[in-house]
Amino acid sequence: MYPAPFEYHAPGSLEDAIALLGEYGEEAKLIAGGHSLLPLMKLRFTQPAHLIDLRNVPGIAEIRDEGSSVVIGARTTHAMLEASGVLQRKIPLLAETAGCIGDPLVRNVGTIGGSLAHADPGADLPAAILALEAEITAVGPRGSRTIPAGDFFVGTLTTALDATEVLTEIRVPVPPGQSGSAYEKFAHPASRYAIVGVAAIITLGSGAVIQQARVGITGVGARATRLASVEQALNGKRADDGLIREAASHAAEGLESRGDLQGSAEYKAHLVRVCVRKALSRAFASV
Ligand SMILES: Cc1cc2nc3c(=O)[nH]c(=O)nc-3n(C[C@H](O)[C@H](O)[C@H](O)COP(=O)(O)OP(=O)(O)OC[C@H]3O[C@@H](n4cnc5c(N)ncnc54)[C@H](O)[C@@H]3O)c2cc1C
Repeated sequence: MYPAPFEYHAPGSLEDAIALLGEYGEEAKLIAGGHSLLPLMKLRFTQPAHLIDLRNVPGIAEIRDEGSSVVIGARTTHAMLEASGVLQRKIPLLAETAGCIGDPLVRNVGTIGGSLAHADPGADLPAAILALEAEITAVGPRGSRTIPAGDFFVGTLTTALDATEVLTEIRVPVPPGQSGSAYEKFAHPASRYAIVGVAAIITLGSGAVIQQARVGITGVGARATRLASVEQALNGKRADDGLIREAASHAAEGLESRGDLQGSAEYKAHLVRVCVRKALSRAFASV
């Protein structure tokens, strides 16, 4: 399988990449790791006439510790997230989630910017980015703007990014003290994509009362989303196994869980309940 012919560009600056996007419009596609785009091109589901490679754009493949937040460049690979000491220490949820993606080859090449911009409904990082309430920076011909993670994922393979914008970085607030987190994934045995993936963060106040619970889910429905009803069932209550069990038992209610080749709607709803319970239990235990 070969992709349709295309012209390859490797601009040396962000400004040049944006100018090329403006020049070629709908005929152009950015490429980062290529691990989602190239398979689609080989299958001819997409046939861009111009590929704009971000590999030579400086300053977008690094992890910056800014104290109360960590800023991650779009071309940071999953392997870099997984191995980052800063993330393991300050935002372990992100390192753990990245470590669950595919296999070492995929993690060495795939990037966080590519994963978020691609918005596969079974991708892992969107669930964590939602739970962490990160902000995404997009730069285009009219300048730079910040998109809250909650507004970023619009639908299957669709985001709030404009076709002329480059996702440059993701700002992730460090969870407050007394927080614990976990990513629980039930992976497809062949593709390793999530049939269900749940990212959970629990922040405790005094007396083990849950000050804030944040839960992101992927694999179910058209896009990753927050589980607001589970969060509400936990917030302000004293954390214990019984509370977590009760909140998780309702996790699938209101979710658009469709049956497909991976399993029936009932099977997926069961997986949602199990993965939410496991993610919350581990998050609580790690506070
Ligand atoms: C065998 C295999 C297994 C996989 N398993 C998993 C898994 O278990 N979990 C998981 O989450 N993912 C999985 N993936 C997907 C992998 O994580 C991809 O690398 C990732 O989704 C896309 O990142 P990329 O850098 O390769 O993006 P690319 O393929 O280069 O680009 C993907 C899309 O994003 C756009 N894009 C890329 N960078 C930017 C940017 N900076 N700004 C704006 N648009 C941009 C491109 O134009 C394209 O439309 C798997 C992939 C393969 C091949």
